[in-house]
Amino acid sequence: MKIGIVGCAGRMGSMLVQATFDHAETTFIGGTEPKGSPMSGKMVGGKPVLDDPAALFEEADAVIDFTAPAATVAHAALAAETGTVLVVGTTGLTAEQQAEVERAAEKCVIVQAANFSIGVNLLIGLTRQVAGLLDDGTDIEIVEMHHKHKVDAPSGTALALGKAAAEGRGVNLDEVADKVRDGQVGAREQGAIGFATLRGGDVVGDHTVIFAHEGERLELTHKAASRMIFASGAVRAAVWGGQQKPGHYSMADVLGFTDS
Ligand code: NAD
Repeated sequence: MKIGIVGCAGRMGSMLVQATFDHAETTFIGGTEPKGSPMSGKMVGGKPVLDDPAALFEEADAVIDFTAPAATVAHAALAAETGTVLVVGTTGLTAEQQAEVERAAEKCVIVQAANFSIGVNLLIGLTRQVAGLLDDGTDIEIVEMHHKHKVDAPSGTALALGKAAAEGRGVNLDEVADKVRDGQVGAREQGAIGFATLRGGDVVGDHTVIFAHEGERLELTHKAASRMIFASGAVRAAVWGGQQKPGHYSMADVLGFTDS
């Protein structure tokens, strides 16, 4: 399978190039960086870095995109035009940007996940299950830590965990999420799902879901030690996407986790 990687010089981009070499069924055919980037024309994975994604979408069977929200929306439109499989790992999309990606998936296969690791997708399923077993007398808090360069908060994975907890409880996350606490905010509201964001150093991604009840507390934790888990998951998603009909899919679909 011929794979293109947009944003191929980024932290995830360079891992993704390596992951295409590691997978027996994939070939890296080239990548892009934005116009004016110092990486333009330099070699990545044995190919010159392009600044126009159109030709890449024409040639590739699948394109993997871990870039930035506005770029991802443009890439989704190109995937719809060319019928190319698109794997989206970019986080921090607004509701409008997300709707545009999902609209593009009417015409092509888009696999999108806030996190492509197997462990996190299990954690999402477990969170939904545990939240469904406990009533809202149990307080749910989600704590995440990432490296100091991360630009969106809470992380896409923390929000996916919050959504899973809300689904387990049969409520809408937007109505119960408590994302920022600062100053005299008053006591915690029953039924709220709280978030706390830590940033520092080179942390690849730590997530803990806390179920706190009077007298006891359950904590479910995942720690990513290498970005390669996301990259190899995304390449696996691209290969899987090659066999699917147009539509919007998640990593749970790729892994066959029907309950997550
Ligand atoms: P990064 O800043 O190191 O890399 C992003 C790259 O995209 C940069 O090289 C940038 O130049 C490039 N880029 C931006 N706009 C572009 C455009 N229009 N065309 C081509 N290239 C463009 O960031 P990162 O740490 O690699 O993270 C990238 C995204 O992936 C973030 O949204 C992050 O949250 C997300 N992420 C997702 C997962 C997951 O499993 N889903 C895991 C890690 C990171």
